[in-house]
Amino acid sequence: MSNLAELSITEASKKLAAKEISAADLARACLATIEAKNPELNVYLEVFDDVEAQATEADARRAKGEKHPLLGIPLAFKDNILIEGRRASAASKILEGYVASYDATVIKKLKEAGTILLGRTNMDEFAHGSSTENSAYGPTKNPHDTSRVPGGSSGGSAAAVAAGMALGALGTDTGGSIREPASFCGLVGLKPTYGAVSRSGLIAMGSSLDQAGPLTRTTADTELIFNTIRGKDPLDSTSIDEHFYPKYPLKKKIGVPRDLLQKGIDKDVLEQFEAALSALKTQGYEIVDIKLPSAGLALAIYYVIMPAEVSANLARFDGVRYGLSLQGSSQWEDYAKTRGAGFGAEVRRRVMLGTYVLSSGYYEAYYGTATAARVALSAEVARALESVDAIATPTAPSPATKLGEKVADPLAMYLLDIFTATANLTGNPAISVPMDTVAREGKDLPVGIQFTAAHGNEETLFAIGKKLEAKEAVQPRR
Ligand code: GLN
Repeated sequence: MSNLAELSITEASKKLAAKEISAADLARACLATIEAKNPELNVYLEVFDDVEAQATEADARRAKGEKHPLLGIPLAFKDNILIEGRRASAASKILEGYVASYDATVIKKLKEAGTILLGRTNMDEFAHGSSTENSAYGPTKNPHDTSRVPGGSSGGSAAAVAAGMALGALGTDTGGSIREPASFCGLVGLKPTYGAVSRSGLIAMGSSLDQAGPLTRTTADTELIFNTIRGKDPLDSTSIDEHFYPKYPLKKKIGVPRDLLQKGIDKDVLEQFEAALSALKTQGYEIVDIKLPSAGLALAIYYVIMPAEVSANLARFDGVRYGLSLQGSSQWEDYAKTRGAGFGAEVRRRVMLGTYVLSSGYYEAYYGTATAARVALSAEVARALESVDAIATPTAPSPATKLGEKVADPLAMYLLDIFTATANLTGNPAISVPMDTVAREGKDLPVGIQFTAAHGNEETLFAIGKKLEAKEAVQPRR
């Protein structure tokens, strides 16, 4: 391997343990790629000024006998995860100049492990989007084809790993924002079980939906990061202990909700999906049809509940407490001016929608109905997972779309979440693992397959991901 920045975390970790390389070597390799590629890809909003010092410190810790597998591993962080003393903008003008006063729990845990923090990555403003085009700091480009989006909203984190500008990254996932960019950039991405990872120190989008999770080159790397950041946290009352859920007996069965695959899905994606399923069959998995009649409603449910929670969570950005502050002739005008100028169009759209569905007279019809449908959907998914280990679908209905292709049509953009939103609504863990690529205009574009398991059963997702990555499982089309 000529470029150390392209190693998997697991490989790099072994080399560090064997003293073949140092954390300083790894950090320098990432910084060199960042310097070469960031101007074109617009991945990092900020590269930290102390990366080399952090690496020296990691090397010193190892010399003293510390052994954590993430000690000295350089990672990138989506810009909605607080790092003490660093700016955090959620890619929004309204948070310009805001500096975090404490570490998110996931950051605290990774610092304890000895991870090197490379910098803050670009994202859709407040994580609203599927393409990273809603950033106030310009779009990020997909390293596999720079005329295309990296997916969103954790597009900067995904592009960083795909381009060799970090060995792994953290993103956040409210309706698919880790899994969809993982699919578009050829990575593994995990949305953990709701509550498995503390939300303390994440800039909230939808509090009943948000989870932070890894974006990496292999399933083993994702497992490593997940095991480091997971766990109950006194700072997040919705977080749960890793022993909370039972051990699930292995059935070696994967369920496919075929009714959901009837229309609107790219035919090359479907072809790769079938190839991935037959690869799993040769690995001893039985593939069975399942029914999830309410899953067709997931997008409609999500796009009522998510904006409702967004409108509540974003109320704190009022020009008084954080970031941008514009003056009008009354306090009310101060709010209106600050929020009008500080929030981008998509954020304003969601705040208005959310306020509307929660307003007196409409609350029952929209929020109440969506909440009831969410309960029905959760019961269906739970029932299906009694007879199969995991549910499989494509992660996204298409490969990476062109820059600008969907910006003018928010509904078309929302459709990209068709397979991912369900797991956020039901709290189940879901992973995206690369399938083979599909060809578009002479470029090979990655596409992912998504697996959803029972609450607390990330282990099954990792087992399936590893099987799919195993050499003998790969049956390329060409
Ligand atoms: N694409 C979805 C949305 O726009 C998901 C966002 C997310 O997971 N943060 O809401």
